[in-house]
Amino acid sequence: MQIAERCVVAFHYTLTATNGEVIDSSQGGDPLTYLHGAGNIVPGLEAAMVGRRIGDCFDVHVAAVDGYGERDEGMLQQVPRAAFQGVDELAVGMNFQAQGPQGVLSVVISAIEGDTVIVDANHPLAGQDLHFAIEVVSVREASLEESLHGHVHGDGGVHHH
Ligand code: ZN
Repeated sequence: MQIAERCVVAFHYTLTATNGEVIDSSQGGDPLTYLHGAGNIVPGLEAAMVGRRIGDCFDVHVAAVDGYGERDEGMLQQVPRAAFQGVDELAVGMNFQAQGPQGVLSVVISAIEGDTVIVDANHPLAGQDLHFAIEVVSVREASLEESLHGHVHGDGGVHHH
């Protein structure tokens, strides 16, 4: 079975940056499972999965724009230090969860200037080209329910009723 719309695909991946540094890998753990055609994975990778079969191993280079997007300086925000009540010591690189208009947002402190803290809501991998080494582990047809929900149920997916 070839990967196409409404397939549930499980694959192993190793993600490396342009400098060869390994960012993330599923090797040694469970494969990543996704519903093809539902935007569950970055667009550049999803496009490269089309037509692949179980057992296929291949490399995919994904430009930043087809990955987590370009960095958006509009996602940098100035927040008063007083907003971080209960945090003893603020430091550049610290991660926080913040409530944004579209739900929970993960932000990182990118600078501290006196009583002003600059937080960055860009995805940590925004602006980066990505290199994936992929191994397709399984391909099956999605159930009607999965297609309607836009995500995978059961192993490696969402468990709910
Ligand atoms: Zn569901």
